[in-house]
Amino acid sequence: MDSPRSVPEPVAAALLRQIPPVDELLNRPGIRELEGRIGHSLVLEAARKVLQSLRETISRGSITKVSGEWLEEEILRETHAMTEFSLEPVINATGVILHTNMGRAPLAAEALAHLVRAAEGYSNLEYDLERGERGERDVHTDRLFSRLLGAERSLVVNNNAAAVFLALNTLAEGAEVIVSRGELIEIGGSFRIPDVCAKSGSTLREVGTTNRTRADDYAAAINERTRVLLRVHPSNFRIVGFTQRPGLEELAELARKHNLLLMEDLGSGCIVDLTSCGVRDELPASLSLKGGADVVTFSGDKLLGGPQAGILVGKRELMERIRRNPLFRALRVDKLTIAALEATVSIYLQGRLDSIPALAMMRLSKESIALRAERLAKAISAQPGFSAMLRDGESIIGGGSTPGQTLATSLVAIRHSQHSAAKLEAMLRRQKPAIVGRVEQDEFLMDLRTVTENQDGKIAQAFEKVASRQ
Ligand SMILES: *Cc1c(COP(=O)(O)O)cnc(C)c1O
Repeated sequence: MDSPRSVPEPVAAALLRQIPPVDELLNRPGIRELEGRIGHSLVLEAARKVLQSLRETISRGSITKVSGEWLEEEILRETHAMTEFSLEPVINATGVILHTNMGRAPLAAEALAHLVRAAEGYSNLEYDLERGERGERDVHTDRLFSRLLGAERSLVVNNNAAAVFLALNTLAEGAEVIVSRGELIEIGGSFRIPDVCAKSGSTLREVGTTNRTRADDYAAAINERTRVLLRVHPSNFRIVGFTQRPGLEELAELARKHNLLLMEDLGSGCIVDLTSCGVRDELPASLSLKGGADVVTFSGDKLLGGPQAGILVGKRELMERIRRNPLFRALRVDKLTIAALEATVSIYLQGRLDSIPALAMMRLSKESIALRAERLAKAISAQPGFSAMLRDGESIIGGGSTPGQTLATSLVAIRHSQHSAAKLEAMLRRQKPAIVGRVEQDEFLMDLRTVTENQDGKIAQAFEKVASRQ
């Protein structure tokens, strides 16, 4: 290895003299054309950056010639890197359906189409076309939630964290909220029930123990400052064994007796029975309302399979109070969310669950996944250095729903004669589109449950590309 000092000074100096001035570079036809498209300042910035890095390369001695063509190409590459989108589609081969880091639920085709129509022009977002006057943006989804859930009224905010916060702030600011110690959860990304309570201005009163809480524990904690009994979906963990949690009806009765409000944070929020999708033990929002909850909150992009949103449903009078909270204005959603949510919920109303991608993925059988996995494994094994086979595995619904439950799947397990599984993982993650799988016992694993069928071919192509670069 040459150390910087080993570059003879005169050689470096001669190379440095060969660097054209910025103006001359910018005058090259290719660069002028680029400037016409993206403007002077970006091109100038890129040119300066390329020249600076060239000077450093020369002084390190790792270059022997300076050419205008090469500099032009570097400037094109640099401006491309500066202007290309950072948010890009990814092939999710992890088998985690509601993967928060990968954007949770993919939207239904109808939701996408409706979103585009709402976004490309004006709409009656907040304009009552009947009366010719200002309306409310919630009406579009409200009529659907009323029908589907039997809710008196619904509101939509930015996400479920906002929904819980807004409800507590409206209904319990300066008062006490009782929560079972078994439900003092943290969802990833610093959503912790105690912190949300504190920020909402309410005081948390913990009752019971981690594994067992009875209705009597709630009753004993009630005092003149108590305003809300809060039930929280345990989401991403499960307490098994010697456990107890009072039924919703029991808590509803207690709340009524003491003139308190019962609020339930359902988290993942399924709005219909999803047993057919492999989702067991999730209480649909309609049953939570029927069971006596006054306010129920859930996410739009978890089991519902729609856009990011927080949905509040419940008693009309309470919803109106929440709506009048000035924070509601700060947490409200835009027309894109309303459009995507309206279309998604409308699909439920029509009973076409398979049109919702997240639910369709849950309903895929292991056999149908294995069929595709077999084909892909064959294509990958045909590439030099690669061997692929099928393994039994488990997909995860994710998004804080159904903790402990998995869906049986068939994985493609890949090895390479020279590269470790970790190396393969990194190579595939850097493809366009990126392919994200996981590594276990020195195999690179892909679960096609979360891959759409038309992406199977793209995965095969990516392996071909990786193999051809050996
Ligand atoms: C996921 C979840 C939240 C947060 O919902 P977001 O829509 O991600 O803000 C809150 N509570 C529970 C129980 C959850 O599972």
